[in-house]
Amino acid sequence: MDTQAFKRSLHHSDRYNRRGFGSPTKRAQALEKAYQSSLITSIRDNGYLLEHGRLRVKLAQAFGFCWGVERAVAMAYETRRHYPNENIWITNEIIHNPSVNDHLRNMNVRFISAENGIKDFSDVGEGDVVILPAFGATVQEMQLLHERGCHIIDTTCPWVSKVWHTVEKHKKHTFTSIIHGKVKHEETLATSSFAGTYLVVLDLEEAQYVSNYIIGKGNRNEFLKRFAKAFSPGFDPDRDLQRIGVANQTTMLKSETEEIGRLFEITMLEKYGPAELSEHFLAFNTICDATEERQDAMFSLVDEPLDMLVVIGGFNSSNTTHLQEIAISRGIRSFHIDTPERIGEVDNSITHKPLGEDLLTEKNFLPNGKISVGITSGASTPDRVVEHVIRKLMGLSQQTD
Ligand code: SF4
Repeated sequence: MDTQAFKRSLHHSDRYNRRGFGSPTKRAQALEKAYQSSLITSIRDNGYLLEHGRLRVKLAQAFGFCWGVERAVAMAYETRRHYPNENIWITNEIIHNPSVNDHLRNMNVRFISAENGIKDFSDVGEGDVVILPAFGATVQEMQLLHERGCHIIDTTCPWVSKVWHTVEKHKKHTFTSIIHGKVKHEETLATSSFAGTYLVVLDLEEAQYVSNYIIGKGNRNEFLKRFAKAFSPGFDPDRDLQRIGVANQTTMLKSETEEIGRLFEITMLEKYGPAELSEHFLAFNTICDATEERQDAMFSLVDEPLDMLVVIGGFNSSNTTHLQEIAISRGIRSFHIDTPERIGEVDNSITHKPLGEDLLTEKNFLPNGKISVGITSGASTPDRVVEHVIRKLMGLSQQTD
């Protein structure tokens, strides 16, 4: 499919909108009222530090709502105001944050249901309004909605669109896109729908496996089995790994993305030599600024003397999970929670999600004595949520000593 031609025709349709309905200034003011927090503003003004009795809270210097998320949420609210009576749908969670998604449900914005990763568009009718979330939608979904006569409000973050351009460029020049991402994540699903031939690698270990295969140290059947759900139809590792370009999900760990890019560059350099490199390798770092800033701020935060870290964000939020990984890599006691309600004030407990595991409840969460807690949040988490977490910690620190 010529995805660029499809996008061009979609963008010219009068049933397609990617600019929203209000001015950016009014949009920012409306969001400020809904989600910002005066407590967080005062902590920021105090060098990202709060001291409250025996509790010391240190905030990361960059955390929470990013520009792309703010824009997507505001556009979704504007859409409800602009279409007060129409059916409004979202193809997925607008962002990975439960409180924001609940707010939209309360505004009677409906989420397209999905089973085993297959979405059911059967209730979406002609003239309905469909919002595409910040991490985008697949080209097939866009096509279906367009053909059904829906109004499409596209809040896809421009950083994500940039990745789509990158894989389209690979496709145009017959390079295979190696996408550093999570194969089932909506953004990676969307990106791979715009790519031609592609292979998704989760981490450096998978990239190393692919690199070994390229230099002749692999087993074809084992390769096909291992990546069965991660490549484009008809993918042939012997044919399709001769010309490769790297792209990534915007919210992956930046240092890992860079290492993967370097690994493939060296692999192709070794195999084809410097004179031929540009014929076999295209690099492009598509980590977004907001992700990079939040990860850098987390690396600074973990250098502080901390007793524990609380990482706030949706459990399916990729950028939040990577912040948690940074905490774990430094051996700091850390808790990933999605809402303030995960902290129990009555029994001093926390219900959190250890990396790759199910929810776990721990009692006696806040120890006695002086305690220093680092806090950060993912790009989908409003400041109000961070404030509520801090207020719960303040309350707990007064109950216990
Ligand atoms: S994290 Fe980056 S790519 Fe994702 S919405 Fe925010 S700015 Fe856009």
